[in-house]
Amino acid sequence: MNNDSFGQRAYEHARWLLENIGARGSTTPQEKAAADYVKEQLIALGLAPQVEPFCSPTSAWRPFAVITGLSLLGKWLFIRGGSRSRLAGLGANLLASFWAIREIDLEDTPLRWLLPNGPSRNVWARIPPAYGTARKRVVLLGHLDTHRSPWIFQTEARTRWFHRIVQAGFASLGLSLVLMVVGLIYRRLPKWLWIPPILAELASLALDLDADRSPYSPGANDNASAVGSVLALAEHLAAHPLPETEVWVLFTGCEEVGCYGMRAFLAQHETELKALPTYFFDFEMTGVGDLAYVVDEGLLIRHTYSPVLRRLAEEVSREAPGLQARPQHAGAYGESLVIHKAGYHTITVNSLLPGNKAAYWHQMADTIDKLDPQALDRGCRFVLEMAKRV
Ligand SMILES: [Zn+2]
Repeated sequence: MNNDSFGQRAYEHARWLLENIGARGSTTPQEKAAADYVKEQLIALGLAPQVEPFCSPTSAWRPFAVITGLSLLGKWLFIRGGSRSRLAGLGANLLASFWAIREIDLEDTPLRWLLPNGPSRNVWARIPPAYGTARKRVVLLGHLDTHRSPWIFQTEARTRWFHRIVQAGFASLGLSLVLMVVGLIYRRLPKWLWIPPILAELASLALDLDADRSPYSPGANDNASAVGSVLALAEHLAAHPLPETEVWVLFTGCEEVGCYGMRAFLAQHETELKALPTYFFDFEMTGVGDLAYVVDEGLLIRHTYSPVLRRLAEEVSREAPGLQARPQHAGAYGESLVIHKAGYHTITVNSLLPGNKAAYWHQMADTIDKLDPQALDRGCRFVLEMAKRV
């Protein structure tokens, strides 16, 4: 395939997904239809795709609604007074804080099993090296599902408020614990001290409850852009495999509810993945704006990704014409977070509007007319160049 057509091929796949399936909510039949589509495309390339089912929570927001409810209940018990009630309140707030930190950092909590789950699946295929035995492995990936479109994400100004409310929610959990310890020691606390944390947590709760009622975003940029790009690169690499490098193309389910597809994939393939130096390239929203790559990420705890791949991104950005990419310090999470925590090299490639804004993130306006084949093309060529040099 001519390199110039990566963007056009990626765009055609994305358009097919949007026009024939539409929004692809995590664990919905539409997410399955997208998995069926990529499987058919991989078979048509002569590859042998594997479909690996797993079970996933159906909402990214519900665990936080439960955690916030538990924390508010704890405050109510504490304010009511009585030594048993106060200790129960402290216990509830400690548990809420512990679960909140684990959930936001994509670690398991019992909430995963207590809240509704649904069926999902990963689809992947192996492209053997052009010659010789594989000395390293490259995994090209993109998620199949689309997020909901909460009210808070529908404008840029509101999205800034989303980050503030999340931070205020966590600050309030910490402040509540401090107030409770002080209250246990000194017995009396002015009641008005509880107003700021309670207001912050009510705002978080409103955000969680609204999000779960909102419709699924069409997800052209997030993340049909990635699915199309990985398929376009699979087409190229099936015909022109890399020397001594095995390539896996991977399409995950349920990224949007906490990267459960990637968690399942890493657990299932750990032995094989650890047997060869492996480098993950995660496509996320590469369809609108300038090329970028994520160097660190996390809503609460920041994780710095592979310095090896960061240096490679800088090198390709410097040397390859038309592929100038800028580093990004991302404010949320993506699949690179769980890949990194499992001990692998990973980099997320995306595209950004001026001011480092992710275009149409979780918006109903994330429609196919917004995708730019040239942006898609840059993402594909950037990753292909890194995959060749790694
Ligand atoms: Zn995404």
